[in-house]
Amino acid sequence: MRIKSVNTQQKTSISQRDIWQARQRILPFVKQSPLVYSEAMSRDFGSDFYLKLEQFNPSNSFKIRGAANKILSLSEDEKANGVTTFSTGNFGRSVAYVANLLGVKAVICISANVPDAKADALEQTGAEVMKVGTSQGDAETFCYQLEQDNGYTVIHPFDDPYVISGQGTIGLEILEDVPDVDTVIAGLSGGGLHAGLGVALKNAGNALRLVGVSAEQGAAMHASIQAGKPVQVKENDTLADSLLGGIGMNNQYTFEMVQHYVDEITLLNEQVIAGGMRYVFDREQMTVEGAAAAGVGAIKHGKIAAGKKNVIVLTGRSVGAQTIVNLMLQFEI
Ligand SMILES: *Cc1c(COP(=O)(O)O)cnc(C)c1O
Repeated sequence: MRIKSVNTQQKTSISQRDIWQARQRILPFVKQSPLVYSEAMSRDFGSDFYLKLEQFNPSNSFKIRGAANKILSLSEDEKANGVTTFSTGNFGRSVAYVANLLGVKAVICISANVPDAKADALEQTGAEVMKVGTSQGDAETFCYQLEQDNGYTVIHPFDDPYVISGQGTIGLEILEDVPDVDTVIAGLSGGGLHAGLGVALKNAGNALRLVGVSAEQGAAMHASIQAGKPVQVKENDTLADSLLGGIGMNNQYTFEMVQHYVDEITLLNEQVIAGGMRYVFDREQMTVEGAAAAGVGAIKHGKIAAGKKNVIVLTGRSVGAQTIVNLMLQFEI
């Protein structure tokens, strides 16, 4: 889907300066991630491809950037009172990791539906894990109740200016390493990453295409952009599990910013996502999760047109051994 920007005047006020400030703030926790030229992709697909290796960040994904920027921006009182979040995936893990380093109490709210293995992994980070209700929505509601009753600060996984600015630091690093980049591709879910990339990349004066890839199995942002307002979608299991989750019916920032900054959103099926994971494994000898490899799969399967100089953000590496085994057995490269 090509996005025709409906509101050319962007109402939210996150600036490139906010992203530079985020970069300074998180530097003690998040070093510049490697950006490598992909010989294989450049040869196989006929233009220059670079991979931004976010999967090697502490806590295994780019989410630490936003989590660190938000927690470091809290007042001393807020830090003393503790933080809470309702993300079960990479964001919850990053919040727990940063809070632990800073000696801030963190409570991760999850529903009874979250598998024990995932809950255990969260507990191992030193955070307190609270099981409530039977859906992600229940966990979210409880999280905001904790804020009211106990004074914790809710750290929203994407719809927060500090989180968006933190994720945007990836854009500054990309411009530093490949100043003449013309196409940036990354997995799109709640839109914190693309909102931040948009501010960082599109206010830098060079024409550039920002592309989001989402899973057919639950593309809430894509459906919302099509509807012109936030909507909910039905979700099914996908290899790109980090791309699932709604955008929030009261979305404040990311919906509008994705509408404004993102040029295209492409939906991918499981075969394409698997193809991306398999390609990264075979040709780059790296193991990444489906959400990270989705952009590679999209290029490999001709789902999006390549530019002259492309950067694909490999966003994370949280993937279980069983998934990798299935991938090797089931899907042709
Ligand atoms: C969260 C996440 C994304 C998508 O980021 P949003 O800000 O939610 O759009 C992509 N890849 C991975 C690995 C993630 O954890």
